[in-house]
Amino acid sequence: MRGLAAVLLCLASCFAAPVLADNTAPYAPITIPLDLKQVPGKPIWYSTGNPGIPGKDNEGNTSNAGFVVTSGGVAVFDALGTPSLGWALLQAIHKTSDKPIRYVIASHYHADHIYGLQAFKDHTDALIVAQERSGEYKENNEETADEKADARLEQRRGALYPWVDDKTRVVPPDITFRDRMTIVLGDRTLTLIYAGPAHSSSDMMMMVEPDKVLFAGDIVQNSRIPHMNSDDVSTVQWLKALAEVEKLDPAFIIPGHGTSSTQAKQAIAFTRDYIHYVRDAMTKAVQDWVDFDVAYNRTDWSKYKDMPAFAANNRGNAYRIFLELEQAQFKADKQ
Ligand SMILES: [Zn+2]
Repeated sequence: MRGLAAVLLCLASCFAAPVLADNTAPYAPITIPLDLKQVPGKPIWYSTGNPGIPGKDNEGNTSNAGFVVTSGGVAVFDALGTPSLGWALLQAIHKTSDKPIRYVIASHYHADHIYGLQAFKDHTDALIVAQERSGEYKENNEETADEKADARLEQRRGALYPWVDDKTRVVPPDITFRDRMTIVLGDRTLTLIYAGPAHSSSDMMMMVEPDKVLFAGDIVQNSRIPHMNSDDVSTVQWLKALAEVEKLDPAFIIPGHGTSSTQAKQAIAFTRDYIHYVRDAMTKAVQDWVDFDVAYNRTDWSKYKDMPAFAANNRGNAYRIFLELEQAQFKADKQ
C-alpha cells in the first residue's frame, strides 16, 4: 500500500512545478494578498492584518506577523490566523530569502495568531517556540484557558471556511521557555521576553538586536480596541508589561494588531490609555456599588466607539475589568 501511495504521490507531485505556486497550495488560497512591508533599512518584514475581527470579509487576516532574515537563517514571529495565511506568509518569506526558516515564535496561543503554524510545521523544519503557559491552551481547561481551544476551532471552521476546515489543527510548540530566552541566529540576537499573564497567559515579546525592533504581540494593539474578555486577562499585569515595553525603548514597534510604527511611545500609549480609561470608569462603579449595566451605559465611550473591534470587544472588556476590580475590592475588604 505504502509503495502505491508513494507512486500516486509521485504522479501528483513529480509533474508539478518544482517551486510551489499558489495553485499547488495545500490550503484554500487567500484572495486578499498579504500587506507585507519592510522595516526601513532593516532585514525585517511584517504583514499588517485587517483591524476588524476575523470573518469571511477579511479571510481571517486580522493579526500582524513578521520575519527577520539573518545570516544564520530566518526567524518568524507569529503565523497568522489560518493555515492558508501561514502558507502565504511562507511563500512571501521564500520570495524574500533563500535561507532556511529556523524558528517560528508564537506571541501567545490565540487562534488569530497560531492557526498558520500548521503550514510551517508541515512544510518547513522550523522549530516552534512559545512561552510555557501556551500549553494551557490545548488543555481546554475552564480555569486557565485563554479561550476554549476546541470551541474556538469549531467557531472558526464555520466563520472562516474554507480557510479553516476539518484539517485545521492547533500545533503545539517544540520549545518553550519561562521568563526569557535568547536566540543568537547568525548576525542577529532575538530576546524573547515573557510579559504575561496580561492579554493571555502566555504573552511574550521579541526584541531584535542590534536593530531595536520589537515584536510586541497583543500587549500592544495600535488604534484598535483590544480583546480583554477572557479569564486570564490581568489589566494590572498588562499595564506593567506596557511599562516594560517602554523601558526597552524600541526604535520600531510591530504590535499584534494595528499599525506598526517608529513612534513606539505613541503605540504603547494607545493601549495604556484605553486600559486606564476603562479601569477608571469601572473603578468608580465598583466603589459606588453601581451595577455593571448602569456603569457601562453612563460611561462616555465616544473616544473609542468608532474604532475597529469596538462593537465586538468593548462591552466584554469593560465587564471583565469590572469583575477584576470587584475581586480586588473583595480581597481588600477581607484584609
Ligand atoms: Zn490577537
